[in-house]
Amino acid sequence: IWQDIPQGPPDAILGVSEAFKKDPSPDKINLGVGAYRTEEGKPLVLNVVRKAEQKIINSPTENKEYLGITGNPKFNELSAKLAFGESSSVIREGRNATVQALSGTGSLRVGAEFLAQHYPVHTVLLPNPTWANHNKIFPLAGIKDVRKYRYFKPATKGLDYEGMIQDLQSAPEGAIVVLHACAHNPTGVDPTSEQWRGILKAVQQKRLLPFFDSAYQGFASGDLERDAAAIRLFADAGLELLLAQSYAKNMGLYGERVGALTVVTRSAEVTNRVESQLKQVIRPMFSNPPRHGAAIVVEVLSDPRLYAEWREELKGMAGRIIEMRKQLLQALKEVGVPGTWDHVVHQIGMFSFLGVSKEQVRVMTEKHHVYLTQDGRISMAGLSSSKCRYLAEAINDAVRT
Ligand code: PMP
Repeated sequence: IWQDIPQGPPDAILGVSEAFKKDPSPDKINLGVGAYRTEEGKPLVLNVVRKAEQKIINSPTENKEYLGITGNPKFNELSAKLAFGESSSVIREGRNATVQALSGTGSLRVGAEFLAQHYPVHTVLLPNPTWANHNKIFPLAGIKDVRKYRYFKPATKGLDYEGMIQDLQSAPEGAIVVLHACAHNPTGVDPTSEQWRGILKAVQQKRLLPFFDSAYQGFASGDLERDAAAIRLFADAGLELLLAQSYAKNMGLYGERVGALTVVTRSAEVTNRVESQLKQVIRPMFSNPPRHGAAIVVEVLSDPRLYAEWREELKGMAGRIIEMRKQLLQALKEVGVPGTWDHVVHQIGMFSFLGVSKEQVRVMTEKHHVYLTQDGRISMAGLSSSKCRYLAEAINDAVRT
């Protein structure tokens, strides 16, 4: 039956790691996938996660029963509070339908399926560029009309604010607009708080439906509140919106697949009906989410000591990334790479968008064994002090080729 099936293309991001694994060179560096590494290049399990796991394993009441369709209720409550803030009117008034889903990706997909069934406008606006998976999640869920709004300005390597506002203003009335809550992937370029207010205004004018993708809360600045500011600005303005949260990066729970989807409504009574429809999406998709990762998150967010320790560990991860940015810029200057590279320290979050061409990426990979995505994005979290010089030399060679 399958003899004529065509070969599928490698994944734009995960394909980079596959190629990296096959490379026998001792010099190779993997800056493709967005996963935190220690200075020694090792994956990190947070101390708070280890402690939470011990508590869970030792608990006499812990079992392996199914969770409900919407997951762990305490997890949902704490996740909403983490994003919107303890004193948020959304939470006080019961205007959030929050369900546990399979990390950020699964939360986006459940949200997109819900919109395809219950929201009349099947147009979604994505930033240009954006995390590659956004381009697939929405049409496969049934939101077929995918458009782009201007976001990154190659000339300044910063935000194309005017272009973005123009594109939002000329969007179809009521279109869904995906906004990266912080640490925009792949560019590392975020709007300022004043620009966020302008974006809110444009969204309100056109009655656009914001869908926030929050994959890096606490990871961008090291401060959980600051990284949630855009979400809170929109929620406090009384907008209905969607939010996909991921604990992959900020709690290092990548493979545990822990995330949450929230639909913000106008009233508690509507919330119940929305939740009943989210269940209709989830039940035939994966029935109910896994319990272990959500239990870890509940322990960390509800125990004041673990919570305080988590904040410190988050600051440590964000701080190491910021330090890598400084060291890479220093190395680029020392090596004398042509052009300006200050954007490396101005961008925030896990990634840096170098501003190199596909051909230059090819040289970096084939000649120097530096693995990064085709769009010239490197994961700062995969870099260490000992590799900055080597990377700067590879960039130097590539841009001069
Ligand atoms: N959105 C964005 C912008 C991301 O960068 C990521 C992680 N690469 C995700 C969502 C979701 O990741 P996960 O499904 O692992 O939580």
